[in-house]
Amino acid sequence: LNLSADVCAIGIDIGGTKISGAVVSGGGKILRSVLKAAPASEKEGGTLCVILQVVTELRAHYPMVQAIGVGAAGMVDWPSGHIRWAPNNSYRDLPLRAILSAETGLPTVVDNDANVAAWAEFRLGQGRQYAYLTFLTVGTGIGAGLILDSQLYRGPTGIGGEVGHIIVNPSGERCGCGNFGCLEAMASGVALGRAGQKAAREDPTSVLAALAENTDRVTGEMVYEAARQGDPVARSLFKQVGYWLGIGIASLVTLLDVEIIAIGGGLSSTGELLLVPARSSFEQFIFASKRRLIPPIIQANFGREAGVIGAAILALDMLNDNDYQRLSPAPVLR
Ligand SMILES: [Zn+2]
Repeated sequence: LNLSADVCAIGIDIGGTKISGAVVSGGGKILRSVLKAAPASEKEGGTLCVILQVVTELRAHYPMVQAIGVGAAGMVDWPSGHIRWAPNNSYRDLPLRAILSAETGLPTVVDNDANVAAWAEFRLGQGRQYAYLTFLTVGTGIGAGLILDSQLYRGPTGIGGEVGHIIVNPSGERCGCGNFGCLEAMASGVALGRAGQKAAREDPTSVLAALAENTDRVTGEMVYEAARQGDPVARSLFKQVGYWLGIGIASLVTLLDVEIIAIGGGLSSTGELLLVPARSSFEQFIFASKRRLIPPIIQANFGREAGVIGAAILALDMLNDNDYQRLSPAPVLR
């Protein structure tokens, strides 16, 4: 770690609804941050315009920033940093890395949002003691970052490690991607809300139905609130969602033999409610459970700041390692 106060980079996290940016020190400390709404359409500059505003605002206060790291939702080509598509964002085919580095003159890296969050856990969280780590962000959807032999695994084009769409139950719920029984369709915040709606319809006198007023409006947050109040129905839904999560993790660990699994994202803030059933099915379904060390499943260290911190630290690490020269040339701009 470079703890020198004048080493810093800008980290940007592009989510489905918000774009957050921060100046982050080499030690992972947030020095200044900005938050803006993600544009609903690409008219009048759209996403790129908002990102450039964020950079300009942050650089006005910290002109010494040395690099920019971006974590973006959706499919991001590696190493070109060309964002292909994200289901919940308006941008399509945005060569973000090329544009940002041309506009700012700074070394820039653009990666998937779950990858940069995994990098924060690996470099600065409990995961720093391990060379093999899986980070899962369990929120509206499920994303993942795989650290294998102290490196992010991205596959040949950048879209490797889409753990949210491995199939855990082919006869299960339909996923946003069109497939059936993806981990994301069975174990995300949306899955929890959907199970809550069903439970509320089946028992209109339940705590869940009372919280929502309309059974179609039950959300994952309401299920959490009901579980916190001790509602047995809501608690059983956490068991169900945690069960599927544990199955997904079992397959991952059977395949990759990682040493630790860190769970972040909105649903991870429910802590043991989700993790206890996940650990239980994980131990049940992992290969050779009696003949191996069972890696721990822990709550991630970083909350909503994981994206900006991880993106900035990744940008600085690449600067230290001279990795920007090794990246393939950015595509020529029109
Ligand atoms: Zn899917």
